[in-house]
Amino acid sequence: MSDDEPFDSGKRNLMCPCGEYLHGETEDELIDLTQAHLKAEHPGHEYTRDQILFMAT
Ligand SMILES: [Zn+2]
Repeated sequence: MSDDEPFDSGKRNLMCPCGEYLHGETEDELIDLTQAHLKAEHPGHEYTRDQILFMAT
């Protein structure tokens, strides 16, 4: 456990501005999927965990 991950927010879904729908079975999976999507589809647009969770639902 680290201070960066105090708890699971329960967020599992994120709609990317490009229209791609991302869904993870866990918060960590959603973060990984989103970062992988950004890397593949939106080079130069990297978001932190907090930024991704802010957009996620
Ligand atoms: Zn996208």
